[in-house]
Amino acid sequence: MATGSDLEATRRSRIILPLPTDILKPALAERSPLSSSSAFKPAQDLVSAKVAPDRPLVIVDVDEVLALFVEGFERFVGQHGFEMRFDKFALFQNVYRKGDDNHIDMLVGKTLFDDFFRDGSDHMDPAPGAAKALAHLSNRADVVILTNAPEHGRDERARWLKRHGMDYPLVINSGLKGPAAAHLAARTNRPSVFIDDMIPNLDSVATDAPKVGRFQMVADQRLRHMAPSKPHAHERIDDWDRLQAALENALF
Ligand SMILES: [Mg+2]
Repeated sequence: MATGSDLEATRRSRIILPLPTDILKPALAERSPLSSSSAFKPAQDLVSAKVAPDRPLVIVDVDEVLALFVEGFERFVGQHGFEMRFDKFALFQNVYRKGDDNHIDMLVGKTLFDDFFRDGSDHMDPAPGAAKALAHLSNRADVVILTNAPEHGRDERARWLKRHGMDYPLVINSGLKGPAAAHLAARTNRPSVFIDDMIPNLDSVATDAPKVGRFQMVADQRLRHMAPSKPHAHERIDDWDRLQAALENALF
């Protein structure tokens, strides 16, 4: 794991430009905000995720939905000389070297982010009620976990989900989630729902798979009040007990 001073030395030519707001995940900024299912090439994990044609389908995000991602990331960066201040609904823009006035830049943030996905997930707790709700739903529906994570974090992420009682098919996505959600939902004749914390992903599903029910959940209590929402377009429920009831209503 790099230290703060090591990270300064990692500046190099690879630049990932963040969108100015609403971005918790660099993966989202790596692709155009315009989704296009026509150019979409499904990866093997998406193709092989089990979706029965006669069962409803739950497509669910991990970070800030099933997992308290930012809280875990805060613990992780805290061990390496950084601290988080929750000024905005963002990730790297809330990370500071301890005592500094200016937040870290994207390159330092991306290094921490990659390290966290490689070996930091033990710092992350599950969102309260998430595993129980999915267990109930999975009695009558298929569940597929659709997460934007770096590929090098796949095994660690799968282990974390299993350890916390959420051992469902895992699909690693990059960029907006509409095309992948459309691919999954097209395989069942029954209703599908999609749950995510990020408005760009929910908008993307509205465009590419408009029949899929959309629900926004922001699990972190400190980020909740800062998270943009569009309640007229995507139902917003930040509590898994209430969300489970709404999902059952939509699915069964
Ligand atoms: Mg998320």
